[in-house]
Amino acid sequence: MTEIQKEIIKLKEEKNALILAHYYQTMDIQEVADFVGDSFELAKITQKTEKPIIVLCGVRFMAESAKILNPAKTVLLPASDAGCLMADMITPDDVIKLKLEHPEAAVMCYVNSTAEIKTHCDICCTSSSAVKIAKSLKEDEIIFIPDRNLGSYVAEQVPEKTFYYFRGFCPIHNVVSADEVEEAREKYKDAPVLVHPECNKEVRDKADFIGSTSAIFKYVQDSKKSEFIIGTEIGVVERINKLMKGKKAYLLSTHLSCINMKKTKIKDVLNALKNLEEVIELDNDTMEKARITLERMVNIN
Ligand code: SF4
Repeated sequence: MTEIQKEIIKLKEEKNALILAHYYQTMDIQEVADFVGDSFELAKITQKTEKPIIVLCGVRFMAESAKILNPAKTVLLPASDAGCLMADMITPDDVIKLKLEHPEAAVMCYVNSTAEIKTHCDICCTSSSAVKIAKSLKEDEIIFIPDRNLGSYVAEQVPEKTFYYFRGFCPIHNVVSADEVEEAREKYKDAPVLVHPECNKEVRDKADFIGSTSAIFKYVQDSKKSEFIIGTEIGVVERINKLMKGKKAYLLSTHLSCINMKKTKIKDVLNALKNLEEVIELDNDTMEKARITLERMVNIN
């Protein structure tokens, strides 16, 4: 453990803080975290902690979700410029337009969205819960925002319902190509290809397994194979290679590194704890409305 990591551990005890890190964070940050997980797991953990301070090492929408679910707690985002390119693609006007076009449809919102967007929706979902949530809705029509790739994946699993999408996508996952899958298979012949549903359909159709980051970890853990081609952010590959003995993960594409997830540096985590910044603040009305959509998601799961 480095000096700065030791300082962080000491400070988090002194301040009675909980450090949460997304799987896409760098390993030095994952190592000082109390819990590492995907968006859904992190959201659930925030509700279970007694600690008054939560340091969310990830991107802004995750810190907003933590604040919405825990209004009385102090939620800190160590890198204040860590946004999400997908979340920023959609505006409230886009959602309002879709609702006017499809008045009978429920609006299902991927958690990778701003708090403001969530206030216009009926329910949130994560990549791991989206299929279950779509099936549970009483409506036969669903407006899925903002990720058209995850939306089309869910629609394939829930053919009995009609889906309408927004044109958003994750620029990191969306650029992976079917050719890259072929090349990786050629290179690592015995390795199955595991991809995230944020990848486009051509890539998903060529994969052996499609799942959230947590589902990909579980697949690797449970598999008798020893090599895997991973079609999601590089942080997942690093974690498998570091923590899973006897398993080797290869990154499907060099594009799979999220610049926003990598904006948080270990020194930012220390500064966040030292100076208690950046504190996530949202107005009460936004929190109230967005909380309904997040709590529905958590309760269904
Ligand atoms: S990987 Fe994609 S969806 Fe996730 S934070 Fe980065 S830009 Fe947003």
